[in-house]
Amino acid sequence: MKRNSLNPWRMALEQLDSVAGRIGLDPGIHKILQHPKRQLIVSIPVRMDNGDTQVFTGFRVQHNVTRGPAKGGIRYHPDVTLDEMKALAMLMTWKCAVVGIPYGGAKGGIICDPPELSSGEVERLTRRYVSEIISFIGPEKDIPAPDVNTNPQIMAWIMDTFSMDRGYSVPGVVTGKPTSIGGSLGRNTATARGVMYCIFNIAKKLGFDPLTQGYVIQGYGNVGGNLAHLLNQQGCKIIAVGDAEGGIYNKKGLEPDKVSEAMRESGSVIGFTDAERITNQELLALDCDVLVPAALENQITEQNADKVKTKVIVEAANGPTTPEASGILEDRGIFVVPDILANAGGAIVSYFEWVQGIQFYFWSEREVNLKLRDIMTHAFETVFNLSSEHKVSMRTAAYMLAVEKVAEAIKVRGLYP
Ligand code: GLU
Repeated sequence: MKRNSLNPWRMALEQLDSVAGRIGLDPGIHKILQHPKRQLIVSIPVRMDNGDTQVFTGFRVQHNVTRGPAKGGIRYHPDVTLDEMKALAMLMTWKCAVVGIPYGGAKGGIICDPPELSSGEVERLTRRYVSEIISFIGPEKDIPAPDVNTNPQIMAWIMDTFSMDRGYSVPGVVTGKPTSIGGSLGRNTATARGVMYCIFNIAKKLGFDPLTQGYVIQGYGNVGGNLAHLLNQQGCKIIAVGDAEGGIYNKKGLEPDKVSEAMRESGSVIGFTDAERITNQELLALDCDVLVPAALENQITEQNADKVKTKVIVEAANGPTTPEASGILEDRGIFVVPDILANAGGAIVSYFEWVQGIQFYFWSEREVNLKLRDIMTHAFETVFNLSSEHKVSMRTAAYMLAVEKVAEAIKVRGLYP
């Protein structure tokens, strides 16, 4: 691995190593955590609509299952790699530990370009992928969920394929399902809602009014798009949003309903014309109060970290900031809420969905949202206090908490045999 490459696994390991030194992690446990428990690579032959057969490559990585079954999303993207899956699976281990839900970490993905595929092709791809990993997933083993470019319909196909294999319905095998088959109310907006609770918690701690700030959101998918709507409903002003095609900026504020409508019609937020067109790099460098990266990894790097002009960054995406950039932001006094805390809302409501699915007993949306707020607020407080106590960044504090919890579980269970 090249030292300066943006290799996600290199960065995940560096993060672990630096926190291990700080907390005096047992060397044996450190070694265990440096290695994912299980890495599956599968070939997925799919009959395409034109009659040809195409073979896709899929992955499922389980990083650690000491605190409970593996948990984590499945992404469909042309840039998926095994190293990315390993890194994101490790992040899931930390995320579940930091907010205290009883899971280990996993991640899956398929190298593919969803806009190029028909719905039938995505369905066949999904079902065959599930059948290739079927012995390794299940409510007690590993529970997939949505991630980049996957959605409730895809989760329904996962649940159906698994259930057909078992011969009965197994809602607990996957989360982020449609509510008609055991999905949880509130799951679709949960990651965004968790990010919003984080913002309100920061405002309380740092002493600003969240309603008078200017927000910039990079990414307009499940997380970025829903966050724009939720913040707007609270009365917050979103001054810019962006997606893979570019960004739009209006310092008077954007109306998310109209942006979403333009997006539905044209496929991108740049279809919204009542705003200035900006590039992705310009978006990240906008003068604003709260910047929310809600797209992919490695967006804030050592190349652009000194250009960022915000007071607060809330990492709604997984791994949007490289370790080098993280150091620059810290030196510049920018308050960063790390991904493993900021975007945990999705995983938390996935946990609620799994509990409801196992018990066949379903909660109201109000109950889901209140419980989500409690968990997010408690985790935020704990990390904030730890960061003040040890005079470290929120990221370092979150990692300290997470790694310590997982290490304690490994220690108390002992090494088999
Ligand atoms: N893909 C989401 C994440 O990265 C959700 C994971 C889950 O719900 O299991 O947190």
